[in-house]
Amino acid sequence: MNNTKPNIVLINCDDLGYGDLGCYGSTVNSTPHLDAMAKEGVRFTDFYMVSSVCSASRAGMLTGCYPPRVGIDWVLFPGDSCGLNPSEITIARLLKDAGYRTKLVGKWHCGDQPEFLPTNHGFDEYFGIPYSNDMGMQAKKDGSCNANPPLPLLRGNTVVQEQPDQAAITERYVDECLQFMDDPGDQPFFLYLAHLYVHTPLFIAEQFMAGSRNGTYGGAVAAIDWATGAIMDALRKRGLDENTLVIFTSDNGGTRRGCNAPLRGNKGTCWEGGQRVPCIMRWPGKIEPGRETSGIAASIDLYSTLARIGGAEIPVDRAVDGVDISGVILRGDESPRDTFIYHAFNHLQAVRKGPWKLRVCHRSFGEDSLETDLKELYNLDDDVGETTNVYEQHPDVVAELSAIVDAARRDLGDKATGTVGAGLRTPGHVEDPKPLTTYDENHPYIVAMYDMFDRSGPEPTFRRS
Ligand code: MG
Repeated sequence: MNNTKPNIVLINCDDLGYGDLGCYGSTVNSTPHLDAMAKEGVRFTDFYMVSSVCSASRAGMLTGCYPPRVGIDWVLFPGDSCGLNPSEITIARLLKDAGYRTKLVGKWHCGDQPEFLPTNHGFDEYFGIPYSNDMGMQAKKDGSCNANPPLPLLRGNTVVQEQPDQAAITERYVDECLQFMDDPGDQPFFLYLAHLYVHTPLFIAEQFMAGSRNGTYGGAVAAIDWATGAIMDALRKRGLDENTLVIFTSDNGGTRRGCNAPLRGNKGTCWEGGQRVPCIMRWPGKIEPGRETSGIAASIDLYSTLARIGGAEIPVDRAVDGVDISGVILRGDESPRDTFIYHAFNHLQAVRKGPWKLRVCHRSFGEDSLETDLKELYNLDDDVGETTNVYEQHPDVVAELSAIVDAARRDLGDKATGTVGAGLRTPGHVEDPKPLTTYDENHPYIVAMYDMFDRSGPEPTFRRS
């Protein structure tokens, strides 16, 4: 093993909320391995994803840029003509160029056409479902099936299974991770594990349901926790523990089935609950155990930080929005990030500086309504739940944050005000996109239950048709 460069394991969950882990206050989900990880590492209280929806969040994190800059500020669908431009330089590409072996296991969601897949974005290997697990064939309550193409499971760029058993996917993902760690070469590795949990529909293996006090959701969280424990155990047994940085986070806030307490709002909104997520980092001997850090940090900062830690060169021919927070992680320094911009659907919705958050626009996932010219100011130090608007009381703060909003609009654009940004790059585009799979009436598919997101009532009985 090359001792000058550590291995890096980045674990990203799908829709896991700020309050869904024991170490973030959950009393209904059991997360012993993640709680132990927090005790052994550093826990962030103010860590943000750059979007409250999947594709934009992932495109931003992997490129170190706010989503509008790379042109992915929405959710991509099967057979979409759009994807992360192959000219973008992902963190996987940077680390690969710096001598790392790289693998993505799990959800990609930055475009499913061949030119956009992980193997064209710096990952040596890929195994996973390339987009959301509700984008396959799903039975509706009336017994009919939706029109999505069968959910693909890819190895590299090849579909190896259609409509895989989702209850078994997490164990298969972990198995892939462990095999990847076992490569006998002397290169360090970058492993990105992107879970399908806790995105609905939720299919849970029996062993994770057994101890759940929170239905299928608790079972999904238990599976994520088990996977983390299994990876930690594998690192220890392989003697890699002290030379591996492990990062755990989530791509956006929880849905209404999850918990974002004490934050307001949920996935698809620019309230804190939509974008502030759990983040824990562990690296024995390098990160002081049991530390908590409350400075502002963001997923885009992982780009510059991992490049620094992995000895990679950050590109100088393009704008990068992330900053290097390795000092925060390794030395407990004050965070170099003091501002954060909240976007959704190319609308610039809010800005945070220090404790202050100015909201100027509101449009959330699934809502047609658009509110512009908002005049809302919150002090997140005193009021993390964004309950009390203090806009009128602090005209000087409003003026300072409004200037940041104006500058961000000029750079990144803003659909709400019709501002075209000067610093935008174009997303990838193909002329004749095709879904990765097509329905075959003779194939014995496993059909998923209809997505129960945002529906009230008792949990459905999960029965395969
Ligand atoms: Mg998500």
